Amino acid sequence: MKISVLTIFPEMYEALNSSVIGKALEKELFSVEVYNIRDYSLNKHKKCDDYPFGGGAGMVMTPQPLHDAITAADPAHEAVRIYLSPKGKTLDQKTVTELAKLDHIVLINGSYEGIDERIIELDVDRELSIGDYVLTSGDLASLVVINAVARYIPDVLGSEQSTDEESFSEGVLEYPQYTRPQEFMGLRVPEVLLSGNHAEIAAWRRKESLRITAERRPDLLSEKNERK
Ligand code: SAM
Repeated sequence: MKISVLTIFPEMYEALNSSVIGKALEKELFSVEVYNIRDYSLNKHKKCDDYPFGGGAGMVMTPQPLHDAITAADPAHEAVRIYLSPKGKTLDQKTVTELAKLDHIVLINGSYEGIDERIIELDVDRELSIGDYVLTSGDLASLVVINAVARYIPDVLGSEQSTDEESFSEGVLEYPQYTRPQEFMGLRVPEVLLSGNHAEIAAWRRKESLRITAERRPDLLSEKNERK
């Protein structure tokens, strides 16, 4: 899979060079191409923003550099082009797994007050938000998308990590996890986890998953029941 990122802050993507994601990029399990939108500006000062028509605070990203950068990243419009935006659909695990199956996605990052609406009309397939709050640019949102999607690309997670049984994988939150020592500051690991009885362990984990989901995210249980 290839992920093309369009940004005016290319240095932010150096953060991808660490952790399992960095290793996966090194092994070429997927690739990230970063395009500096400024390089495509025909303005002699490489300007990419201008005042909003109609007035108001802040600047808006101009269409020309964005359109040319998108066309360079995806000349025949074969990729799914995503604009990161607080107005988009909120990213969830279902969307992440769908994106991970694609050959090429283009992530378009706004800055300032956002991008000229005509780019959304002309060049964008879908808009994604990472939550109901406003960031200064789309780049942290793109890094979140890349990290979440990469975990579903075959072989990116080592055998010691898995996307099975984790939060959201079955529409519920994950059960509590424990490791050594068996007792820490007077708190003991639940006996069932030390029993070696796999059926009882699975039943305990299921019960705990449902308890935690009911307490913290009852909306997930209603969605699960609706899907049945
Ligand atoms: N004026 C815009 C509004 O009120 O909807 C917010 C613009 S924001 C300051 C600048 C850029 O950050 C946006 O163009 C978008 O690319 C990105 N951004 C901000 N919040 C985001 C979020 N929650 N999810 C995804 N991208 C976001």
